[in-house]
Amino acid sequence: MSDPTTRSAPLPIVEKPRLTVVGTGYLGATHAICMAVLGYEVMGVDVDVAKVEALAAGTVPFYEPGLPEKLREALDSGRLTFTTDFDAAAEFGDVHFICVGTPQTPGSMAADMRYVDSAFGELAKRITRKALLVGKSTVPIGTASRLTELVQSLSPLGAELELAWNPEFLREGFAVQDTMHPDRLVFGVQSEWAERQLSAAFAPVLEEGTPLVVADLATSELVKVAANSFLATKISFINAMAEVCETTGADVNLLAQSLSYDSRIGGRFLKPGLGFGGGCLPKDIRAFAHRADELGVGQAVSFLKEVDSINNRRRVRTVDLIREMVGGDLAGKRIACLGAAFKPNSDDVRDAPALDVARMLYLEGATVTVYDPEANENAHRLYPDLTYASSMMACVVDADAVALLTEWQVFRDADPDDLAQLVRHRRVVDGRHALDADDYRAKGWEFRALGRPAQSRTVALASDLRDEVTV
Ligand code: NAD
Repeated sequence: MSDPTTRSAPLPIVEKPRLTVVGTGYLGATHAICMAVLGYEVMGVDVDVAKVEALAAGTVPFYEPGLPEKLREALDSGRLTFTTDFDAAAEFGDVHFICVGTPQTPGSMAADMRYVDSAFGELAKRITRKALLVGKSTVPIGTASRLTELVQSLSPLGAELELAWNPEFLREGFAVQDTMHPDRLVFGVQSEWAERQLSAAFAPVLEEGTPLVVADLATSELVKVAANSFLATKISFINAMAEVCETTGADVNLLAQSLSYDSRIGGRFLKPGLGFGGGCLPKDIRAFAHRADELGVGQAVSFLKEVDSINNRRRVRTVDLIREMVGGDLAGKRIACLGAAFKPNSDDVRDAPALDVARMLYLEGATVTVYDPEANENAHRLYPDLTYASSMMACVVDADAVALLTEWQVFRDADPDDLAQLVRHRRVVDGRHALDADDYRAKGWEFRALGRPAQSRTVALASDLRDEVTV
């Protein structure tokens, strides 16, 4: 392996490898589609027959802006196919990207490695010519080393079958842009050959001048969880300040604004609110803390447990604010929840703060109606007991209070006068600091937001604070 270092010019590119992408969820489907658009022959592989059939028929089975158009383009090029057949995948690929899920293990903070182990194992058993297996899933440190032993013991090729890690940093909602033009690539490799194969597999991206870090396996695993830990910490920092604001009468928006002008701090990920969620950050910081404990360095990242607690307390505090607003008892009150996805421009409801708040309100006896522009179906599957409305306007009918929980643009753009025609009481809790407090108040609404005094005015936020919606 060459020196682990930042490289501006990659090693010479030898060929155009055929790619398989195993696991065609949010990450894998996007990767498969974009790599085909970039000119590679790609085979997407999944154990979910319905998902494979949908993708092969030109339908993206989740919401991701711009991806349906790219899928059409990739299928029309003839370079993209989908299958559930691992024999076909093993035969097809020169570089196999493993993109299966690593959810939180039920009853534990650890990552559930069943899917990763199975995907690597099933492929390794079948591969009979020199090939590179590349993990993209987010995994505990040490996984790649463990899997190297596993796949080499299973494969007819033995040590000829190589393994590398290539962590993924795409953000849902910006997945196409982030895949085709990432801000960096990280290759965790064990040989120069593996580095060359990966360079060949990302040639068009590297030719754009994308920074490349070539590293060892452990560093490449750590990069991803370290990045997510940093972002989660920054978000929880400002939300911890919001807690302090709530008991001191200070205003967290003015605080964040003032901090953001300090170039050493910056405004990105300093936006207070209901906090982070989704299929990555929460489970990744928990799995990291768990793994660090196992490795005997738990103390080094024990702060992540507090980061997680701060984040979860924002959900509880949002329910508190709504309860206060409706007079101290939620039983029988009608609450309109605007948003269910963990962030706008996604239909992903995994560990979604919005849905968590809706569920807590429901458990306290409120009649909860949820509307999300894209995530109603996924939310209904998770929480069938909640009522789902087909539009924002239908959601707020007869509401005793409206809660803005996911900052979709359609909610930001809503006219408080139009909503006022439909609600029973003009009360709104802005869980995302996304609404114009002055406008709502001027139109007769009682307005509350996390970390802000009851009568705080609209703050014209600096753009990096205002526009921040996504992890
Ligand atoms: P997902 O649940 O949307 O997709 C996982 C897919 O893997 C599913 O389609 C599932 O059917 C399939 N699968 C499970 N076992 C399989 C097997 N043995 N063989 C083939 N397919 C199998 O998950 P995701 O959000 O795409 O995340 C995948 C991984 O990528 C996770 O480790 C996640 O942390 C990481 N990641 C995700 C994102 C993101 O934005 N979603 C970003 C960076 C990293």
